[in-house]
Amino acid sequence: MLTERPTGVLGGTFDPIHVGHLRTACELLAGLDLAEIRFIPARLPPHRPPAAAPEALRLRMLEAAIRDVPGFRVDDRELRRTGPSYMVDTLQSLRDELGARPLCLILGFDAFMGLPTWHRWREIPGLAHLVVARRPGFAATVEGELGELLAARSIRDPALLGRVAAGSILVRDVTRLEVSASAIRDLMAKGGDPRYLVPDAVRELLLKTHVYANPEEVRFSAQ
Ligand code: ATP
Repeated sequence: MLTERPTGVLGGTFDPIHVGHLRTACELLAGLDLAEIRFIPARLPPHRPPAAAPEALRLRMLEAAIRDVPGFRVDDRELRRTGPSYMVDTLQSLRDELGARPLCLILGFDAFMGLPTWHRWREIPGLAHLVVARRPGFAATVEGELGELLAARSIRDPALLGRVAAGSILVRDVTRLEVSASAIRDLMAKGGDPRYLVPDAVRELLLKTHVYANPEEVRFSAQ
């Protein structure tokens, strides 16, 4: 049977990118034998307040974080689109470009549980496989239409992801690092240092730009 190594897609606000995103991507790239993972920053996330950092800086931080990492790639297609950054549109544009290559949309379990609130979410399994990254041992009851989708499309063997272009759901254990972008923004607003929560190159950009700093703190530290 014909198989093709899938392209992984990791969308997010990346405000900022952190080691939780990166370690998950790293384990999935190797563990699922993906051809690459594209990090796709959202211009206007539909389900949450706009990003705190400007687009250009979020993009620079992403590029700095994954520079020279084989298999990791930044894809700025959502930043080039107007309107809300709907994942269904992103996957459709990737599908138009990549033809029948298997696509894997990577989601944390939290993001997966919120899938039914996404724009035209029912179309997503027709465009990509879903790879749900969860902390080992984590169990949750998935109910309703999402539960039915999971029951109908769940697979265990990652090799199956390369056999068809889309449509399966693989729940995969990853080393879940309890880091969040919002906690990093809060830390920095209090004047804290994000060392080891983000790659060094991202930390340098954060410290140089003061992007999440509370204006009071910046004035104080500049005195
Ligand atoms: P925020 O704290 O601002 O909500 P975030 O840290 O959750 O941000 P996002 O850019 O919103 O980051 O997340 C993009 C994707 O990365 C989502 O699928 C989310 O589930 C996943 N993700 C976020 N944090 C982690 C983490 N620590 N480990 C693994 N995946 C994560």
